Amino acid sequence: MHQHHSAFGLIQASSPVEPVTLVRPHAARRAARFFIERFPGTTMYAVKANPSPDLLLVLWDSGVTHYDVASIAEVRLVKRTLPDATLCFMHPVKAEEAVREAYHKHGVRTFSLDTMDELEKIVRATNGAQDLNLLVRLRVSSDHSKLSLASKFGADPADVTELLMATRQAADALGICFHVGSQAMSPHAYAQAMERVRAAIVAASVTVDIVDVGGGFPSSYPGMEPPPLDAYFDTIHRSFESLPISYSAELWCEPGRALSAEYSSLIVRVEKRRGDILYINDGAYGALFDAAHVNWRFPVNLLRSSEEGTETTAFSFYGPTCDDIDHMEGPFYLPNDIKTGDFIEIGMLGAYGCAMRTQFNGFGSEETHVVSDEPMTSLYTGEVEPERRTATVTKIF
Ligand SMILES: *Cc1c(COP(=O)(O)O)cnc(C)c1O
Repeated sequence: MHQHHSAFGLIQASSPVEPVTLVRPHAARRAARFFIERFPGTTMYAVKANPSPDLLLVLWDSGVTHYDVASIAEVRLVKRTLPDATLCFMHPVKAEEAVREAYHKHGVRTFSLDTMDELEKIVRATNGAQDLNLLVRLRVSSDHSKLSLASKFGADPADVTELLMATRQAADALGICFHVGSQAMSPHAYAQAMERVRAAIVAASVTVDIVDVGGGFPSSYPGMEPPPLDAYFDTIHRSFESLPISYSAELWCEPGRALSAEYSSLIVRVEKRRGDILYINDGAYGALFDAAHVNWRFPVNLLRSSEEGTETTAFSFYGPTCDDIDHMEGPFYLPNDIKTGDFIEIGMLGAYGCAMRTQFNGFGSEETHVVSDEPMTSLYTGEVEPERRTATVTKIF
């Protein structure tokens, strides 16, 4: 991979016609170290947020040994990239063939489930194995999160007791897991979910060996500045300590976004301007799926060398494909005088951004460069930039 100090250095050197992904290994390393050192349990990386092998290697080198995988393709990918990693198959609905291959060929011993059907599937596919860690996924509220995960998965409270008792019989280690929804804006989300865990344990009177609080740990985006991660860890630790479980029970988490968001950003070029709409060369079918479909806002920065301070305007973006839905509402605040041919860096695309790219309509590019400057915002340095509504921000190196 090519190496530059920053996005601005790169466009000066090469004026890229195609969108370019920038990666910041140091930012991923910092996030991983933070979780490894501060989370009071085992940190597992949720691979779907960004399955790039380069990122997986950075996380592994930073001490992340456990990986949450959701498909057999993710199992194979992580096994190939990190042969010694511990894989946990945490999708509650799996193909039986996938469970079979994961168990017999790749050494996967940890699976989640939310129905009796799935439990029976796992028992069949592993030929009644005696060395399974089985985690029952509870349905919990997504009220504090920006992206709900409350409807699709998770056992209903009415079924949990029976499911926990049956799973206890089949498991070597029994766990309970949940997901509070992605980008949980308050630690309270976890405290609430832990109350559901408590109620489930009490009702079923089973010995629980693992409590897995899932993902949902936030990152910093315009208009979404969450409390410090330590506040989440404190709340989780306190709730965990008060559960009716044995002293040897383990606490796990499965961050995706929080470990990967700061890893990547994207350089795009303005191909046309129409009033306060910019037509750029990446979009809904590229790395900006969330900006288009759930109106997510990402930090933006016009890349130019002049220092003149122009006022900013709220822009929306159109992506390069022929579809009307290739539209990112924003608002994205950029200088008034931005024009065709200008380059923009769009930040915080390491999670659910670069992982979502397609080649639809012949657009999209794999070009990736390593840069060494800081991400536009960071939950780990405490550098949470206010929204840039008034000043032109320039980077000169
Ligand atoms: C998506 C997902 C995660 C990661 O969620 P984030 O909000 O990115 O932290 C973790 N666990 C499971 C089961 C998931 O589906």
